[in-house]
Amino acid sequence: MIKTSKLPSSIKRIIFIAVVLAFFFGAGVMAGNMKPINSVKIAFPNNHEINVLTTKNTVQEILKENYIEILDDEIVVPNLETEINGNTTITISKKSETNEIVALASKGEDIPLEQLLNSYSAITEKIVVEQIEIPYETITKDIVSGKANTTEEIIQAGKNGLKEVTYKIKYQNDVEIERQEISSKIIKNPVNKVVSVKEKATVTSRSSTSRTSTTYTAPTGSLASLVEGITPKVTTLNTSAYCACYKCCGKTNGVTSSGKKASAWYTVAAGSAYPIGTVIYIPALSGKANGGWFIVQDRGGAIGNNKLDIFVGSHSEALQFGRQNLQCYIYMF
Ligand SMILES: [Zn+2]
Repeated sequence: MIKTSKLPSSIKRIIFIAVVLAFFFGAGVMAGNMKPINSVKIAFPNNHEINVLTTKNTVQEILKENYIEILDDEIVVPNLETEINGNTTITISKKSETNEIVALASKGEDIPLEQLLNSYSAITEKIVVEQIEIPYETITKDIVSGKANTTEEIIQAGKNGLKEVTYKIKYQNDVEIERQEISSKIIKNPVNKVVSVKEKATVTSRSSTSRTSTTYTAPTGSLASLVEGITPKVTTLNTSAYCACYKCCGKTNGVTSSGKKASAWYTVAAGSAYPIGTVIYIPALSGKANGGWFIVQDRGGAIGNNKLDIFVGSHSEALQFGRQNLQCYIYMF
């Protein structure tokens, strides 16, 4: 620091002039580099407004300078790239609101022209190709009319198809406002689901006397009550009969492969597809001892899955039975 008090007054004056000149020179240099200062009003969706002074050029820069972020559902007018010249207002609004403005205007509401133009200017059109699933249809066959107790079997599984649809879509501020289908072509046809409705084999337990099915006489018995609620597999099996004799079994003790002693018109030998304990109802044999109810308790070397061997009381009974193709209701647990 220069101690001016000790200097002669002429030097003081020179220093003063130099300082003044330096000030103006400096100010001149600054003015040369200085950007114009704009006063900008920023309006927010919640009707708040702020006024800022800025030397920035574009809307984006001004917002950034003020730590303002535009959210996905917001729109800014004028747009981010617009250069600001002079005093202006930057309006941030919700996209949904600008669409509302258009809607209100079309209802005859008095909307300021500038606001309305801004809302309209954002409408764009795009051609969009979309793949759309074609839902399959369900076709029902063999409808048993007037029967309450039915069972459904899916014969063919349904598969959705696929089509390619070309739309012309109008967007307003990135929100879809109108969609027009231009063309459509099928890529994959749907496969119908086919369901067969059949009358359910109804099992009536010992305690009940109600009969809801007329397919066959509802049987009674302990095996019948075991399978209540289970949907049987209905199939025709090649059925024969056997007894505990040496000719039939190679032994005479009457003990089955399940370890249980065989009972006439109760025990059956079946193929491996039917586990020990599987209950089988044969309507054709409902007049027999157990009302046509059998349980798989035995196996046999020659008994495939399409065969069934029924244990009977004597060899003559077995011979008399012979071979019969019989409809069987098979209940597996
Ligand atoms: Zn025998």
